[in-house]
Amino acid sequence: MRELIIDLDAIVSNLNRFKEISGGAKIMGVVKANAYGHGMVEVARKLQFANIDYLGVADVDEALELRAAGVTTPVLSWLHDPKQDFLAALEGDVEIGVSNLEQLDRVAKAADHTKKIARIHLKVDTGLSRNGATLAEWGLLVQGALDLTSQKLVHVVGVFSHLSSTSEADDKAQIASFGDAVQRAKDAGLSFELRHLTASDGTISYPGLGLEMVRVGLGLYGLSPFVGRKGSEFGLKPAMIARSVVAQTKRVAAGVGVSYGYLYKTKAETTLALIPVGYAEGLPRGASDQDGPIAGVVIGTKRYPILSRIAMDQFVVDVGDDEVAVGDEVVLFGDEANNAPSVDELAIAASTINYEIVTRIGGRFKRSYLGSVK
Ligand SMILES: *Cc1c(COP(=O)(O)O)cnc(C)c1O
Repeated sequence: MRELIIDLDAIVSNLNRFKEISGGAKIMGVVKANAYGHGMVEVARKLQFANIDYLGVADVDEALELRAAGVTTPVLSWLHDPKQDFLAALEGDVEIGVSNLEQLDRVAKAADHTKKIARIHLKVDTGLSRNGATLAEWGLLVQGALDLTSQKLVHVVGVFSHLSSTSEADDKAQIASFGDAVQRAKDAGLSFELRHLTASDGTISYPGLGLEMVRVGLGLYGLSPFVGRKGSEFGLKPAMIARSVVAQTKRVAAGVGVSYGYLYKTKAETTLALIPVGYAEGLPRGASDQDGPIAGVVIGTKRYPILSRIAMDQFVVDVGDDEVAVGDEVVLFGDEANNAPSVDELAIAASTINYEIVTRIGGRFKRSYLGSVK
């Protein structure tokens, strides 16, 4: 009664768009956070089938889940548990993003222990102030990596950073600072194959950087990283449809309060339709706040606003005198052919961004896949 339909062929189509946009750079498909809610293993298998160059995840555990599922594409993990010993990561051929000397040391110990040369990407903080070595620490990190390279404990595959997407001027400053950090590493004698800096937004905004790889998450799922601009502007196709069914209908009189807090009271005698999806499924409760844009759903061919409070498991819409019956399909978002709201519309109604909607959608939804591979 709650279904997420994931179109894996749309994801491949979006991959091909990013190949065009990035002018032949290698593509890292970012599949962290359960592939932004789309199902990590299924998405990764499909991307491997489509010959993607790399996969990217935050945690080593996510990378190991891919390996356990038989995914053999190179995978990079960059956000580490302070207690991570990296042994399993090396055994699983997971490449490791290294942000500081302490991580480098743990990686070297794991390499020594497993007798495997650790494949690492050094991360430099060029201005986002999240992970990555500061420019002041960069020289020491590069030197440490050089020493371990000569001891055959590590192989530096790449150097990377991440933009803040604050303004074009801020991004340009980071791009310049990344260029400097790369040059300093080269001058110190370090060699590496891959420089990578941009995510979906920077890959679209700065197509001429000429770096060897781009890291694309949201765009692969067909969504736009720019608030107020649709994915279709960039030739992207949304890959997720969320749908449910009407679980109950009832006829009520005028002036009846509906759901918690009576945010909504019926204006006339009408029919209410109950939909069994709530904030436990990741439908944001805030989308039923009535200040600002209103969220909606499609039943049949018609859109109905969500005017009463979204609860944990369910919400109610007023369908007036329309013929709506128990079992009728309800589209919450994503089905353009049905004129359903986009993920972006729901995000705006909930005062958030499309990233947060898809990564949090789940709960009791079941995912089904179009175009899956084994
Ligand atoms: C999540 C993430 C990405 C992907 O970002 P999108 O905006 O979804 O394309 C790329 N790089 C890093 C370091 C990330 O954490």
